[in-house]
Amino acid sequence: MNTTPNTASPARVYLETYGCQMNVADSELVGGILRGAGYVHTDSPAEADVILVNTCAIREHAEDRVLRRLSELAHFKRARPATRIGLLGCMAQHNRASLLGRAPWLDLVAGPDSYRRLPELLDHARFDAAVDVRLDRGETYAGLNSDHAAGIRAYVTAMRGCDRFCTFCVVPYVRGRERSVPPASILAEVRELAARGVKEIVLLGQTVNAYREGEVEFGGLLRMVAAIEGIERIRFTSPHPCNMTDPVIDAMVSEPKVQPYLHLPLQSGSNSMLAAMQRGYTVEQYLALVDRVRASIPKLALSTDIIVGFYGETEADFEATLSLMRTVRYDSAFSFKYSVREHTRAHPLGDSVSEDEKARRLAAVIELQQAIALERNRESLGHEVAVLIEGPARRGGGMMAGKTPQFKTAIVPARPGVEPGDTVVARVEAVTAQSLICARV
Ligand code: SF4
Repeated sequence: MNTTPNTASPARVYLETYGCQMNVADSELVGGILRGAGYVHTDSPAEADVILVNTCAIREHAEDRVLRRLSELAHFKRARPATRIGLLGCMAQHNRASLLGRAPWLDLVAGPDSYRRLPELLDHARFDAAVDVRLDRGETYAGLNSDHAAGIRAYVTAMRGCDRFCTFCVVPYVRGRERSVPPASILAEVRELAARGVKEIVLLGQTVNAYREGEVEFGGLLRMVAAIEGIERIRFTSPHPCNMTDPVIDAMVSEPKVQPYLHLPLQSGSNSMLAAMQRGYTVEQYLALVDRVRASIPKLALSTDIIVGFYGETEADFEATLSLMRTVRYDSAFSFKYSVREHTRAHPLGDSVSEDEKARRLAAVIELQQAIALERNRESLGHEVAVLIEGPARRGGGMMAGKTPQFKTAIVPARPGVEPGDTVVARVEAVTAQSLICARV
C-alpha cells in the first residue's frame, strides 16, 4: 500500500500532546514514524493536512479538556475539509466505543500500540474513519526512530505498559501489559542522542525499574547506558517501590552518572488505603525503603505522587498521609484528587469523598509540601551545586537556568562562553520552594 501522502508537496502534520512524559515520548515516536512515511511537521493547525492529538486518560478532567480542544480543532477542518483529525493515545484506547459518536469529525482513533500502522491508517482516513485500538503485548517499537525534541535532555522509553493493576489506575487497560524494549534498541537510541549533543537521558516506563529483557534487569540497563560516552547524567521515571531491588540501588550507588534523585510514588500514608489501592507495600515497608536508599545514596532527593480522596479515605487516613509526608520530607510531590475511572477495579465503588473535601485535602497536601520543599531547599544555602545549564532563565535578567543532580531548578548568572549543555559550579545564595538562586564560584 502506498503510505506516502499523494499531494504534490509533503503533507503537514500538527501534533498536540497531553499527559505524562510517556505520552511526550510517544509523540516523538509518532513524529519519527510519520517523517519516515514522508510527512513533515508543522506548528500551525491552520496549515495542517493532518491534526493529531495525543491524549491522556488518567483523570476525567484531562479527558474533558481534550474533548473541548478537539472541538476547537474541528474548526480547521471546516475551513479545509480535506484535513484529517486523529485522536491518539490512552484516551483513544479508553473511550474507543463512544469517541466517534461524541466527536463525529474525527477521522482517526488510534491506541498506543497502533502507531506503527499510522501511515496506513491515515491513508484509510481519507475515505472513512479509521479505528485501531488493538493492544499488542509484543509491541515495543524497538528500532524505530523518534523525532526527539532539541535540548540537552532526552526521554527514552525503556518499558511500555504495566502489570500492577492498582485499583484506581487505568494504565494497564489503556497501555496494555508490561514489555521491555530490547537493550540494543535503547543503547542505539542513546548513542545517537549522545552524538547529537544530548547530555542527560531519562529512561521511561510506567514501572521502569521492573525492566527485564532476557538477563538484563534495570540495574544492568542503567550500567549499560552509563557506559555510553557523552552522556553525563541518567535519570529514570517512574519506578515502583516494590521494584527498588538491590541491583537497582547498587547501580545508583556505583554509577556516578546515575543522578541522586528518586521519584518514589507513595499514593497514601495509610495502610488501609494502600491495601485498598493494591499498591503492594505497607507504610512500614515504604519507610524502610526510604531509609535504605537514603543510607545508600548520599544527598538523595526524593519526590513522590499522592492521591487524596480515594474511595473510603477517612480523615484519619488522610492525616496519616500528612504525617508520612512530615516523616519523609520529600523534596517535591505531585498530588492529585482521586478521579473515578471506568474499567478500573475501584470504578464500581464510586466516590465516597465529596469534591469539596477532596479539594480541601489537596490544598492541605500542597501547602504542607510547599513548606517542606522550602525547608529542604534552605538546607542547600551556602553549598556548592553542579548545574547542568539548559538555557536562559524565564525571569531573564542575564540569568541562566539548569538542574542540579537532585533535579532542582537552579538559576545562575550567565557568563560569556557558557552554553546550554555546560555544567557550572555555583553556590546557593537564596531559595524558594521551587528553585535555588545561585552565584557563580
Ligand atoms: S504501578 Fe499502579 S499506578 Fe503505576 S501505572 Fe501501574 S497500575 Fe498505574
